[in-house]
Amino acid sequence: MVSGKMKAAVYHGPGKVAIEEVDVPQIGEGEILVRVRAALICGTDLKTFLRGHRLVKPPSPFGHEFAGEVAATGRGVTRFSEGMPVVAVNSAPCNVCFFCKRGQHNLCEDIFFNWGGFAEYVRVPARVVGQNVHPIPEGLSYKEAALLEPLACVVRGNEAAGIELGDSVAIAGGTGPIGLMHLQLAFHQGAKEVIAIGLRDERWAVAQELGVSHLIDAGSEDPVERVLELTEGRGADVVIEAAGVPEVWEMAIALARKGGRVVLFGGCPVGTSIPLDTSRLHYDELNIKGVFHHTPGSVERALHLLASGVVKAKPLITTVLPLERLEEGLLMMKEGKAVKVAITP
Ligand SMILES: [Zn+2]
Ligand SMILES: [Zn+2]
Repeated sequence: MVSGKMKAAVYHGPGKVAIEEVDVPQIGEGEILVRVRAALICGTDLKTFLRGHRLVKPPSPFGHEFAGEVAATGRGVTRFSEGMPVVAVNSAPCNVCFFCKRGQHNLCEDIFFNWGGFAEYVRVPARVVGQNVHPIPEGLSYKEAALLEPLACVVRGNEAAGIELGDSVAIAGGTGPIGLMHLQLAFHQGAKEVIAIGLRDERWAVAQELGVSHLIDAGSEDPVERVLELTEGRGADVVIEAAGVPEVWEMAIALARKGGRVVLFGGCPVGTSIPLDTSRLHYDELNIKGVFHHTPGSVERALHLLASGVVKAKPLITTVLPLERLEEGLLMMKEGKAVKVAITP
């Protein structure tokens, strides 16, 4: 058993995150305690830090993309033992509600989120241990493995996009971590070109390193005009929105060709809405799909994609900081100075 104090980030509301001495979490039946070796800052963490989050009630542990080694196991845990390198995601479905029974595990009525990755130790609840904790495949570092949770979400978005050989794929918010994972999967599926739209910043070099076909600076160019130019006036076959901004959702729909597919991936602030051109939806037969979260199946597929190198995590992790500098990491992501920041407690 591990006991005593540890350093952990505590979220006290928008703009307020402190590193504090807290008790090492105690684990119960079916649970494991993970000694965190790397925790990545997620867009959700950044949104929570900047404007709050409906599911994070302060004061709260913080961070949810982590990998480390098993420090202790609760009664009844058989798949894991002390010292094992593992990666866990932040939730697991109940498997008994209306949605779970219909295979829509990401919409589970009893989904809960496990926060606390920005700490020396994190407790993983029994339901997650049972479904969404995996040994880290050989060859993957803790930092790379910690990309599992966002990639599992991206896998579902990618499946909704139905990318076909030779497609033109436009990604709005294409130079952020989510956009860059979508980019890698789109090429893997035979996209002819991937057009990334974003504000020009230090992350552009990473998009270039990953082979982006065209970069559009939304700060100085008209993305709709540029995408039409690049696609013989038709628009992109597939558009993926990965920014979570209502105006960008609207733009994403405008980027799609007749009969094209639009995946709205980024979550916007609660209560926002966008106007929809009914003629475009009807006469142009647009396929518009929202996607949210992951399922145990998409988590497994994401792990294979990381292990096989189809999705490269290393280029996305542009900054590594100690726990004490978490806030600096959050600000770097806000300003586009880092794609993904890894915190090493
Ligand atoms: Zn995340
Ligand atoms: Zn459920």
